[in-house]
Amino acid sequence: MGQGRLGTAMETGARDGLLRRLREVVGEQYAFADPYEIRLYQYDASPETALPDIVVIPGSAPEVADVVRLCAQAGAPITARSGASSLAGGTVPVHGGVVITFPRMDRILEIDVDNLRAVVEPGVVNLALSHALKPYGYYYVPDPSSQGACTIGGNVATNAGGPHTLIYGVTVNHVTGLEVALPSGDLVQVGSQKAAETTGYDLTGLLVGSEGTMAIVTKIWVRIQPLPPVQKTLMAVYPDVESASNAVSAIVRTGILPAAIEMMDKLSIQAIEAASHAGYPLDAGAVLLLEVDAIPELAEELGQRMAQVCRENGATEVRIAKNDAERQALWKGRKGAFSAMGRLSPDFYVMDGVVPRTKLPETLAKIDAISVRTGYKICNVFHAGDGNLHPLVLFDAFKAGQYEAVLTIGDEILKLCADAGGSVTGEHGIGLEKRENIRYIFSDDDLEVMQRVRQVFDPHGLMNPGKLFPTDGLEPSPSVSAPSPARRQPMPAGQGEDLWV
Ligand SMILES: Cc1cc2nc3c(=O)[nH]c(=O)nc-3n(C[C@H](O)[C@H](O)[C@H](O)COP(=O)(O)OP(=O)(O)OC[C@H]3O[C@@H](n4cnc5c(N)ncnc54)[C@H](O)[C@@H]3O)c2cc1C
Repeated sequence: MGQGRLGTAMETGARDGLLRRLREVVGEQYAFADPYEIRLYQYDASPETALPDIVVIPGSAPEVADVVRLCAQAGAPITARSGASSLAGGTVPVHGGVVITFPRMDRILEIDVDNLRAVVEPGVVNLALSHALKPYGYYYVPDPSSQGACTIGGNVATNAGGPHTLIYGVTVNHVTGLEVALPSGDLVQVGSQKAAETTGYDLTGLLVGSEGTMAIVTKIWVRIQPLPPVQKTLMAVYPDVESASNAVSAIVRTGILPAAIEMMDKLSIQAIEAASHAGYPLDAGAVLLLEVDAIPELAEELGQRMAQVCRENGATEVRIAKNDAERQALWKGRKGAFSAMGRLSPDFYVMDGVVPRTKLPETLAKIDAISVRTGYKICNVFHAGDGNLHPLVLFDAFKAGQYEAVLTIGDEILKLCADAGGSVTGEHGIGLEKRENIRYIFSDDDLEVMQRVRQVFDPHGLMNPGKLFPTDGLEPSPSVSAPSPARRQPMPAGQGEDLWV
């Protein structure tokens, strides 16, 4: 069983001195280094683990700024952790140091419907924001499938997507301004709060998706959007993934772009249906879940038109959700897909690659060929409209060599995506997991430019070190443990089932 990273980055005396100063800022109980208490903070939803030296739970932005300043003065690595649902090991403190986490900073500070804004602290759970906006008739668009657990702070750091970001865009399109704490101890604001436009460099755009390697996000101004008057949800059944993939491009070509186009293959459908009983057909080779947002006068017509396009492009059956309960059931199945995988296998390794939409059929065929060649089953459940693949490689971490084998398979899949003109991450981020794979899309020169930009914010490389960049850049090689077989994969069964969609 994995033990987490055994060494710590800090000398005991230095750690105790820093702990004392941090406690003066946040209070005795909110900074700790007890070996048992810190163990929880070695994990996120990835298979990697590494122990921090100290965990801090600040209660306000000025406290975060003081914490970051004290850590920087002590030369301690700083890793932010919010919902810890990172599938890329983003929160795993591979160089030890201080983990800063935000359960006390989970306040929705303002809902300003007239300006279409909400202002939130980083620890606000994604779904909680949409729940709070619902009585006003509004919602926050980016809806990762983990939205019952992940936070807006983590979404900002990873530039999270979700099923409904197809027409509305991912997190960066919904964040207008940020307040961040820098290693200098300064709290600075970038972007706009309520104004529609800003001038000058787009620093908000730079910080969104920077995975905690530049600054700690302490406050977020987000766009809010009126709830769609009507949502027509369709399930289209296909004999195989190839015909379903071809249909995706055909649907987009009609000009009626759905808010969401999700795909599930045969294996995924079996797991999802066993867990959700939502009515997914067990004999289908693939299923598309489509949703169109519309005004009431147009909803029926658009739904029928979409159904017709699906039939014309190989669907053997199309079901339109008759009411909200049916719609919720279909989405509950899709959004609980990862946790449903426990029905098929004790462990899975989820990849996150992107290809141009038109390359879906050939990429999925190549992934299937990898599965046949290696003997590892691979499920596909993903954001088809965006070409954002999530192949899930099934394995058993108790069996010697299987974890290493699935890492190799994951690497091969990411190379496929890059070679197809895509990218090695669509939404989960690079984190620890894909810092070497980033070379498939960026040259050494590209990476050096990015490091220089990062150094403007973080001159000493203390912000989430060991992430995003290959290890042979500025940073020493970290030691990370193999995953614990006993730990199993990423969310407990049933978690994520109570979802608003
Ligand atoms: C079942 C499941 C389904 C998922 N589905 C999706 C999906 O549909 N779309 C999607 O995009 N992702 C998905 N994810 C991945 C994950 O939920 C997202 O990456 C999410 O944005 C992480 O948010 P979090 O609050 O859990 O952040 P964490 O995991 O805590 O952190 C993620 C990264 O952000 C950094 N960070 C966190 N807080 C801050 C802060 N305040 N300031 C600076 N940096 C910070 C961390 O250091 C880390 O690098 C899924 C994960 C799971 C387990």
